Amino acid sequence: MQVIQINSSPADANAYLIIAPKPLLIDVGINAKYVLDRIEDIMDPANIELIILTHAHYDHWGAVEEISRQTGAKIAIHTKDAGLLSDDISSVAVMFGAQGACFQPDIILNDSELIGLGNGSDLEVINTPGHTQGSICLYHSQSRSLFSGDTVFPEGSFGRTDLPSGDGRSLVDSLKRLAGLDVDILYPGHGYVTKDDVPGQIRLSLQFAGSFVHDL
Ligand SMILES: [Zn+2]
Ligand SMILES: [Zn+2]
Repeated sequence: MQVIQINSSPADANAYLIIAPKPLLIDVGINAKYVLDRIEDIMDPANIELIILTHAHYDHWGAVEEISRQTGAKIAIHTKDAGLLSDDISSVAVMFGAQGACFQPDIILNDSELIGLGNGSDLEVINTPGHTQGSICLYHSQSRSLFSGDTVFPEGSFGRTDLPSGDGRSLVDSLKRLAGLDVDILYPGHGYVTKDDVPGQIRLSLQFAGSFVHDL
């Protein structure tokens, strides 16, 4: 598995192109043309059959309808975030001067589900509620990679819990679960990819989130 980070601007979420026998995208951000151009540099976009959204926030899926139309890829999201997509507020689309989704997801994901990459390895869906109720992280055990959406970021940061369906205590429980994983590389929904003592960074996020929740 090879991973290409695609990011059109600091205000945009990261998209990750997973290069494998069954290529897929994890999140797409808001700039469809930019993402499609980056994919075209590497492969025929029509080879992409699946787009996995880490959660229902607009900055992660704003470009998905266009990219899905151009590639024919199906759109997958966790069952608990599927219903938030079409809501202007819950999807935070209003924060970007946009509206909730007009599309319906094609595939509904559940915790612990495995998504095969066609090479004998797979991405495990881990439901990590806290930032949103149906936020997911995707774990590739073979390469010890974690795609963490807006649940956990490098250097002890974590996703905000004050948006609709956010919950601080759930986030702490989710970070505890992630802290138990063997992770070498963290691919967050915003910011840079890190290989630097990732379990230590996740434990730091857990520590900060724990004291934050304690103060609520
Ligand atoms: Zn978010
Ligand atoms: Zn985000």
